[in-house]
Amino acid sequence: MSTAVVVLTRELRVRDHPALVAACETEHVVPLFVIDDVLVRGPDASANRLQFLIGALEDLDGSLRERGAALVVRRGRWVDEIARVARDCGADVVHCSDDVSGYAKGRLDRLREVGAQQGFGVVAHPGITVVPPGALLTGSGTTYRMFTPFYRRWITAMWRRPLRAPKRLSLPPRIDLGSVPTLAALTNVVPSPGLPAGGESAGLARMRAWTAASLAGYAEAHDDVAGDMTSRCSAYLHFGCVSPLEVATRLRGRAGGAEFVRQLCWRDFFHQLLAALPELARHDLAPRGIASGTDDGAFVAWCAGQTGYPLVDAGMRQLQREGFIHNRVRMVVASFLTKDLDVAWQMGAHHFMRLLVDGDLANNQLNWQWVAGTGTDANPNRVFNPIRQSERCDPAGDYIRRYVRELADVDAPMIHDPPDLERARRGYPLKLVDHAEAVAQYRARSAASVSN
Ligand SMILES: Cc1cc2nc3c(=O)[nH]c(=O)nc-3n(C[C@H](O)[C@H](O)[C@H](O)COP(=O)(O)OP(=O)(O)OC[C@H]3O[C@@H](n4cnc5c(N)ncnc54)[C@H](O)[C@@H]3O)c2cc1C
Repeated sequence: MSTAVVVLTRELRVRDHPALVAACETEHVVPLFVIDDVLVRGPDASANRLQFLIGALEDLDGSLRERGAALVVRRGRWVDEIARVARDCGADVVHCSDDVSGYAKGRLDRLREVGAQQGFGVVAHPGITVVPPGALLTGSGTTYRMFTPFYRRWITAMWRRPLRAPKRLSLPPRIDLGSVPTLAALTNVVPSPGLPAGGESAGLARMRAWTAASLAGYAEAHDDVAGDMTSRCSAYLHFGCVSPLEVATRLRGRAGGAEFVRQLCWRDFFHQLLAALPELARHDLAPRGIASGTDDGAFVAWCAGQTGYPLVDAGMRQLQREGFIHNRVRMVVASFLTKDLDVAWQMGAHHFMRLLVDGDLANNQLNWQWVAGTGTDANPNRVFNPIRQSERCDPAGDYIRRYVRELADVDAPMIHDPPDLERARRGYPLKLVDHAEAVAQYRARSAASVSN
């Protein structure tokens, strides 16, 4: 009797799952999820993502039970737990999906070492991105650092075909299944109240409903922040509840699909970059030598949505309430922190990772660098004007009113920048900095760094 373990990490689905399909070639399969201590106590641990993860694991367990098996759950050190399960069930192979962070690569290397000592092989499969990181290189054989040339190669590259979900799986006899823990068993941090449900079923339902209602208008409407017209599938993609390849393959030929699939390419772009240069999780791709300040008061006000810039505050309060911010507003709040408030992007990125339900090392850290001007943006001095952006992307002020209670009865255009007297009357803060002055100072710092 042969047994394979398939370790699930962030491809929490049964459809288009190369590692799961490969494991199913073996007589018995152990679909294993290890609640890695790092997920619970690591520097980027997040109650919001743990809650979503629990929903995703419960849903996956249901799908596996429909196929004759169940999810096997363990908690502890990832490598140790996998090795123990492999030994207990006599597995000779462990399948898993390749991932991109330095941490994920390091633990896979350690698993391979332990496997070699203990007598099981480790096979890593694609599945986390549309095109595997490293598959597309520039003409000189290097990693792409510019999005547009990467996109041109990516969209014309040969993609693998999405795989069907396995019909049946058979667990080895007498295996201890363990169980999906409650959130309270993992953390005493209270999650945000407005989180989406995790899981493949919820992800597929969300994608189907959104595609029918909004895909065709995506190109025109995606920056309408009050309309909330984007797919909100980022958390489902981060946890692999939906397959990026399946989504891209199905939608690329449909009306509105080209623009949407281009966004999925940004995801692949940042993943291939982090896979090649794992240090980008903390360090700049293109350091500019602009020293960042450490104004804790400004950072605290930014986190709390108390900067006095209504669009910035609405975004930061959406983050607290929903573990999500619209993409356009993410750019505005990140630009405001790094350029107007002169705070290091790493501090903002860390706050985002604590709260974002889609918090993803590649997408988060590299988007932060893009906005801070130390990453892949060809125009690193770009500054988002929080009032102009508010007038453009939330002209009626509906997005601001939804999240900034103090301004609930203020109409546009006043809502974008209320006069001081109106602010005082409503208990809404004065502007923390003057945008024009802050930008002038940023440009001076930037010029000084170039001349040094
Ligand atoms: C400072 C900052 C931090 C960010 N942090 C994250 C993060 O931690 N996790 C994350 O998934 N995205 C992050 N993004 C990218 C983007 O904001 C979100 O992917 C998007 O808002 C998710 O909403 P959606 O699913 O409705 O997007 P849609 O517009 O429907 O896009 C579809 C999908 O394309 C991908 N995508 C879209 N834009 C980007 C982008 N700029 N970079 C990479 N992938 C993209 C996402 O997977 C997204 O779900 C960040 C952007 C900024 C500016």
